[in-house]
Amino acid sequence: YNTFKGFKRLVAPFGYNFKEGNGVQESATKHPYKVVKTSSLAHHHLLPSFELDYDILSGNKIIRNDNFTAYCLAYAGHQFGFFAGQLGDGRAITVLDTVDKNGPVQLQLKGAGLTPFSRFGDGYAVLRSSVREFLASEYMAVLGIPTTRALSLISLPELEVQRETVETGAIVSRLAPSWLRIGSFQLLNPPQSSYFGLERDWKMMSHLVHHVENELFETKMDFKSVILEVAMRNAVTVAKWQAVGFCHGVLNSDNISLLGLTLDYGPYAFMDIYNSGHICNHTDQTGFYAFKLQPSRVLWDMQQLLNSTAEVVGAEEEGVEITPTFAFDSEGKECFDNLFKWRKRGLELNDEIEDVFKETFQKQYLHEMGLKLGVKDLTHAEHLDLVNVLLTIMQDQELDYSSTFRALSSSADAETVADRILSVKPVTSFLQDGAKDAWLGWLSKYFERVNKDIEAGVWGDKEQAQESRLRSMQSHNPRFVLRQWVLEECIAKLQAGDQSTFDRVFDMALKPFEPYHEDTSGNDLTAEQDEEKRLCG
Ligand code: AMP
Ligand code: MG
Ligand code: MG
Repeated sequence: YNTFKGFKRLVAPFGYNFKEGNGVQESATKHPYKVVKTSSLAHHHLLPSFELDYDILSGNKIIRNDNFTAYCLAYAGHQFGFFAGQLGDGRAITVLDTVDKNGPVQLQLKGAGLTPFSRFGDGYAVLRSSVREFLASEYMAVLGIPTTRALSLISLPELEVQRETVETGAIVSRLAPSWLRIGSFQLLNPPQSSYFGLERDWKMMSHLVHHVENELFETKMDFKSVILEVAMRNAVTVAKWQAVGFCHGVLNSDNISLLGLTLDYGPYAFMDIYNSGHICNHTDQTGFYAFKLQPSRVLWDMQQLLNSTAEVVGAEEEGVEITPTFAFDSEGKECFDNLFKWRKRGLELNDEIEDVFKETFQKQYLHEMGLKLGVKDLTHAEHLDLVNVLLTIMQDQELDYSSTFRALSSSADAETVADRILSVKPVTSFLQDGAKDAWLGWLSKYFERVNKDIEAGVWGDKEQAQESRLRSMQSHNPRFVLRQWVLEECIAKLQAGDQSTFDRVFDMALKPFEPYHEDTSGNDLTAEQDEEKRLCG
């Protein structure tokens, strides 16, 4: 692996290095494995210099040389609003941390066995959840939503993993420029340190801060700018989730990426029937992470980032440089007074974080909905008037979110569109009287707004305007959606030894905007086309 230039180490002392006889034996899997799939898209985009070596990707071999050794980093976090102390990383091992052609990249194995941070877990992952992470990572990337990526999916047919039932083990190898998350900071400056037995570790904090300020983003930043950048990136990402109907399910602070990447594909769901209060996590009885609450939950997580780094921000604003030999080491009263003063000063950033987050979210959401609706420069007032009403009708009539948008992208004739929207069979087939009238009312307002754009020439030549508008909409409203039932079918068949649906779904996930025979009756389709159409729901 000497072909890699610039191996570098972010092996922090709060992490754990895997060395011979010190972690590797019990951590790297020694199980027979079967490669289910590789994402060449992720490979070529993020780690082109890496020649695929499945012994590495299955945890059977560990890269180790003078500059690098596999490691994992512990982190803490708030779970459902409550600080839970150290809780990760019990099953992800970074096996490569390098700079490739397109920038920094860290390759992790999820589910390769115990780490020193596994607590009561077994360090394994099951095929079911690994399939979900693999497919969603790549689908989200193709949708243009910031996300961690999946490189390979490997099953461990002989590894039996005990969950609610016994399941097959698997390993997803995954890629991100950085896997740091808000919980990485919370571990070092926890909100309730004494209770969880965690010490505040200012020395480690200054290492981490130094790394983040100098290496995480394209430009060097002070920590105040880092926090605002993290807030903006996450606001953009959550706006894109809301637009595509993605429900994350566990927006705990340990699942919030510093780079604004969608991180940790657990109980996520792409909504079928639109319901603003949709809950996709069956353990989330109160709807803490319900769909409509996602933006405010992520904002709250941003404030936890400040909460764990306020001293750093305050110190920097006073012109004190953060270095590993920072005064934090001293134990005296002076140090305590300084920390207190800096913390107070740093916390003043709170309102700015909120403003930046909300402003960025709103701007991005309007932009995304404008693309979905084929309406240029959607304003906030129009959002209230047009988008909110649209969502209300969808929710009242229990209509499928993605299919409704796809129907809107199919024609510029109100009658046709209304019929198409209502012809999509809802899962709970329930249509009210006056359903079509509600649509015709909304559509007339909508097309009024659309015609303003066309008159203003924003779609070019008037003759072609509707067509270019619809084409644009079709490239922003996926025809193929990675729905729950599709995932379940992939998983069930794969577990039974049939990979055909998984393969087809992966191909479709990489091309979600293709029409997939949506206008055909189905009679004259080949079996393959018929199958594609079926998987579109
Ligand atoms: P999550 O709720 O998915 O964000 O998981 C939080 C943390 O729990 C992860 O970072 C892991 O460290 C840990 N964890 C989850 N499942 C396991 C497992 N099977 N073995 C060890 N640790 C686990
Ligand atoms: Mg997690
Ligand atoms: Mg998880």
